[in-house]
Amino acid sequence: DTETQREAVLAAIDAVAERLSAEKSYLTDLDSAIGDADHGANMSRGFGAVAEKTDELDGDIDDVVKTVGTTLISEVGGASGPLYGGSIMFASQELEGGITAETSVAFAEAYLDKVQDRGDAQIGSKTMVDALTPAVHTFKKSIEQDDLPPLTALAKAVDAAERGVNFTVPLKAKKGRASYLDWRSVGHQDPGATSTLFIMEELLDVASE
Ligand code: ADP
Ligand code: MG
Ligand code: MG
Repeated sequence: DTETQREAVLAAIDAVAERLSAEKSYLTDLDSAIGDADHGANMSRGFGAVAEKTDELDGDIDDVVKTVGTTLISEVGGASGPLYGGSIMFASQELEGGITAETSVAFAEAYLDKVQDRGDAQIGSKTMVDALTPAVHTFKKSIEQDDLPPLTALAKAVDAAERGVNFTVPLKAKKGRASYLDWRSVGHQDPGATSTLFIMEELLDVASE
C-alpha cells in the first residue's frame, strides 16, 4: 500500500544520502581530474538536504519524489543540480499511481528523456547519460520483453550502468566542464556517470530488502 511504498522511498533516500556522503571524496577526486572538484560535495550536500527533510516528505509517492527533485534543484546548482533535480521532478509524475513495474519503467524513461533534453548529451559525450542510457534500456527490456521480475531487471540495469561508467574512461568529453579539457579528459572516469551508478546501487539494495 501507499504507506509501505512511502517507507521504501524514505529508506532509499537515506541509503542514497549515506552512500553519497561516504563517496564524497572519491567523487570529488574524479571531478578534480576533469572538472572543478565539487561533484562529491554537490551530491552529498543535495541528498543530505533531502534526507533531512524526510518528515516533510508526506503525501503521495509522486509528491514525495517531486520534493526530492525540487530540493536537489535548490541545493545543488552547477550542471548536476538541474539535471538530477529537474529530471527527478519531471519524472515523478509517472509515479502518480504508486510504484509498480510499469510505472517504474515510465519513471526511468521520463528521467532519461529529461536528462537528454536538458543536457543535450548523447551516448559517448562522457556524461551521466553514458551510465543512464544502457541502464534504462536494460531495465525496460528486462521488464517488457523478457518478463523478468522488477528486482532482477533492476540488478541487470545496475550492471549495465557499471559498464557505462567504465565506457566513459577512454572517451573525450563533449559536454560539461570536462569538455573544456578536450583530449586531456581522455583516461578519466566521469563523475556524474559514477554518482548515477552509486544511486542505482542503493536503489537496488533497498529494493532487495
Ligand atoms: P559542475 O560541472 O557544474 O561542477 P558537477 O561537478 O556537480 O557540476 O557535475 C558534473 C557532472 O555532470 C559530469 O561528470 C557529467 O556527468 C554531468 N554533466 C555535465 N554536463 C552535462 C550535460 N550537458 N548532460 C548530461 N550530463 C552532464
Ligand atoms: Mg564539478
Ligand atoms: Mg561546479
